[in-house]
Amino acid sequence: MNKLLKILSLDIEYIDNISFRRVLLISSISILTMLIFIFFFFVNLLAMQNYSIAVLDLLAAAISISVLFILKHEQNIPKAAQLVTFNLFLFFLIFIYINGSSHFSLIWTIFLPIFAILANGKKIGFYFALVFYLLLFTLAFLNVGIWEKGEWQYIDLMRLIATSSILTFTIYMNEQALEESDKKLELVRKQEKKYISDLHNKAITDELTNMYNRRYFYDMIPKLTALAKRKQQYITFFILDIDYFKNYNDYYGHMQGDNVLIEVSTLIKKHIQRDDDFVFRLGGEEFAGVIISDDKEKTHEHIMQLCKLIESQKIEHIESLVSEYITVSIGIATVTPTQEYDLDKLYNFADQALYCAKNNGRNRSDLSFRCS
Ligand code: GH3
Ligand code: MG
Ligand code: MG
Repeated sequence: MNKLLKILSLDIEYIDNISFRRVLLISSISILTMLIFIFFFFVNLLAMQNYSIAVLDLLAAAISISVLFILKHEQNIPKAAQLVTFNLFLFFLIFIYINGSSHFSLIWTIFLPIFAILANGKKIGFYFALVFYLLLFTLAFLNVGIWEKGEWQYIDLMRLIATSSILTFTIYMNEQALEESDKKLELVRKQEKKYISDLHNKAITDELTNMYNRRYFYDMIPKLTALAKRKQQYITFFILDIDYFKNYNDYYGHMQGDNVLIEVSTLIKKHIQRDDDFVFRLGGEEFAGVIISDDKEKTHEHIMQLCKLIESQKIEHIESLVSEYITVSIGIATVTPTQEYDLDKLYNFADQALYCAKNNGRNRSDLSFRCS
């Protein structure tokens, strides 16, 4: 079954429910009509010697083939739908014009509204059906007392009008219901996508500072290191830790401590903001950043400026043993693109450098390779 669906959908990329349904319908009707028209072409040509109908069959078969072509190569679903409907529209009208109502010919016309509405949608499909029936009913009206050797009467015409109208109405309502439910489904899908994206953002964002969190940090590090390798650039990783922050909390209170975390995070974000740069809150009063560059000295300098920048904000911290203001210590590690490294190694290097910075008096930054 799946294989059949694949063939009928002509390998056209899945767009949405309605389009997919229409492609299936148009291609299956085109294939079917092509086969039927070819079959009747031979029947009319060889058995019935009804040449005008045979030519009509051949023409209709050719249009069916071109519809398949339009669908497959232009992927223009509305155009294919209109053409295949127009094909049936013309064929049935001419067929009835030639055959009248003899041999139950009118039964074929029930396909027109079904197909027109399902393939073109309720609006265009309805117009097709309307024009078709106006012409058909006129033809049937003009032939009262003529078709079927005079047997075709008003009562037959009424029956034709009633059944055709009920049929068209039923198909129209069915399509309306389908289109409505598809619309609702699309809306639900959009909302779902938004919820998932919101949830994802929440999952990777630190609530207090709005910075990326440790989870995102672990997600991003392999991607960033791969990017650095591809670009043959240095990848620099740093860990920043607020000095004597426990003392700050104890003296000023946790709430005030939170405000400092927000302020420090804003400064870090502002200072390190190029496209390939990433900064994170690792947790507590620890932040981290990853910078990809081809001048590691410049990058180091840029990171080191953060110490001065944060102290210059003059956020009072009388319990600090290194300054009257909030200060930070930073550990920096850089690897070259050719160096073999993993996340743990990089993290440990930066952590060691931070440890050095703390031991060497705080309110400073240290580089891992210079650290002892
Ligand atoms: P050091 O200079 O050696 O880094 O000393 P420190 O006091 O900053 O380091 P320590 O690890 O002893 O203390 C970190 C403190 O950070 C402990 C805790 O009170 C505070 N902290 C951790 N998370 C939060 C938070 O979300 N909000 C606030 N206000 N404080 C936090
Ligand atoms: Mg600290
Ligand atoms: Mg800490």
